[in-house]
Amino acid sequence: MSTFPQPTEVRQKEISSAYDKISEQVSNLSAEHSSKPVRLVAVSKLKPSSDIMALYNHGVRHFGENYVQELIGKSQELPKDIKWHFIGGLQTGKCKDLSKGVENLYAVEAIDSLKKCKKLESCRKNAEGNSINIYLQINTSGEDQKSGYSLEVLDELYETVEFLLDPKQCTLLNIQGLMTIGSFSESISEEGNADFKRLLTLKQKLDDKYRLDLELSMGMSNDFKEAIKQGSSSVRVGSSIFGARPTKS
Ligand SMILES: *Cc1c(COP(=O)(O)O)cnc(C)c1O
Repeated sequence: MSTFPQPTEVRQKEISSAYDKISEQVSNLSAEHSSKPVRLVAVSKLKPSSDIMALYNHGVRHFGENYVQELIGKSQELPKDIKWHFIGGLQTGKCKDLSKGVENLYAVEAIDSLKKCKKLESCRKNAEGNSINIYLQINTSGEDQKSGYSLEVLDELYETVEFLLDPKQCTLLNIQGLMTIGSFSESISEEGNADFKRLLTLKQKLDDKYRLDLELSMGMSNDFKEAIKQGSSSVRVGSSIFGARPTKS
């Protein structure tokens, strides 16, 4: 008997069928536009653990969360083979809680400074945790309210990549790719998303410079199709799967 929080039968069906619809679109576009299958991360922030179990029962393992305390709580009551993606803004002061509190943390997707990498590396080491995949967030739209490395000056981004690739300094963080959110106006634009294009161009530059093959995490409910057409390797979809979210209190 499982003691995990379970959904009602109705909710189980509702979420599974919403997921299947998105997943089918992702697979079809992925077959057409990508050399590897594009990963679908189910963004479960502000949704109950029983909703996550609905998809877990359905075979899904990659989930995205935005708030450190919420993720810690969920990770402690849910199965340990879930692959958690922390996709929210991470304050330096929370790196310790995150690396200690979530043993099955798979990826941190919104890293925007070298300082945070150093902090995560040292805290994860102290916690004797497993390695974590890192996506560096890029502020592709240049909007003040968006976080991420600037595209104007790439020095700190290069320093971060070099830190992550240096086995003498960094053993528990693995550079997996780049992530962007992009501007709202680009997400609804009809003719190619300029933010996604900038992220792809930057990937190509870093791949050449450091001999990497970085993944791209871009695309959410309203723009994941365009993101896959423009080279995304991992899409983060929340409301189209779980329904509208309550506002964070
Ligand atoms: C909430 C969130 C998502 C999911 O957004 P939806 O529009 O609900 O699909 C994706 N990425 C990030 C960074 C988020 O914060």
